[in-house]
Amino acid sequence: MEKRIVSERMAGKVCVITGGASGIGLASARRLAAEGATVVIADLDEVRGPEVAEELGGMFVPTNVADEADVAALFRRTKEEYGSVDVAFNNAGINPPEDSSILDTGVDVWAKVQTVNLTSVYLCCKYALEHMVEQGSGSIINTASFVAIMGAATSQISYSASKGGVLSMSRELGVQFAKQGIRVNALCPGPVNTPLLAELFAADPAQAQRRLVHVPRGTFGEPEEIAAAVAFLASDDASFVNASAFTVDGGISAAYVTAE
Ligand code: NAD
Repeated sequence: MEKRIVSERMAGKVCVITGGASGIGLASARRLAAEGATVVIADLDEVRGPEVAEELGGMFVPTNVADEADVAALFRRTKEEYGSVDVAFNNAGINPPEDSSILDTGVDVWAKVQTVNLTSVYLCCKYALEHMVEQGSGSIINTASFVAIMGAATSQISYSASKGGVLSMSRELGVQFAKQGIRVNALCPGPVNTPLLAELFAADPAQAQRRLVHVPRGTFGEPEEIAAAVAFLASDDASFVNASAFTVDGGISAAYVTAE
């Protein structure tokens, strides 16, 4: 999707993007860089990650966001290399098909999703905040989901619970650190056309169709449409947007019945 970039509002800002090698993270890294930011790509993917960093003139830091030492090193290296940590887009996450109805989801799958989707955000906030508190400024954007605020009968129980946790944690941190010049928002995207969604729906095409009915415009979002919201939340244009559930869902959460 072609978007005209109209500003240099991220000039001089250093942005860490977890899951920056694919999907929403990749589109956001491109958008932030196009608006003048220096980007740090943190991802498990040691093939795509360095390619993206090179494309955008930034740095790749191989990172497992569920590993405390990796996350601490990510933010420390960013600070050492570029002098500040202005934006943390804590976005990496998984949505495995084995995570489904509570009746079928074992505790091992439950725990894995909680660790990668929720514990990771706790770790990324903790280590980004160390630097942001010292600076007296920063914007943290944590990727939750519209399922943090709505229930789905096509359930992924641990995923939904993890995103609810991301939303509550973001709200609380936004309130706690506001007087220190730091904003923390939870981004709640609707379903977006990325490899993560494709993987899930390849396993069950009927599920994709079942969900699409609930999107008022009849198509899933594109990663660039989420990236535009990320760039806004990251920028000083969002100076009075804090502790929010920032919903970018094409109207799903407002829909009772959609048009034929
Ligand atoms: P994606 O699969 O396209 O990209 C996710 C990236 O995260 C990949 O590059 C992957 O390598 C990386 N990653 C996975 N586990 C990691 C780990 N442990 N450490 C570091 N990197 C890791 O996914 P996406 O659709 O762009 O999703 C990004 C975020 O948006 C996720 O948190 C997801 O839950 C959320 N989200 C997605 C949708 C959607 O429909 N796609 C909707 C709402 C929320």
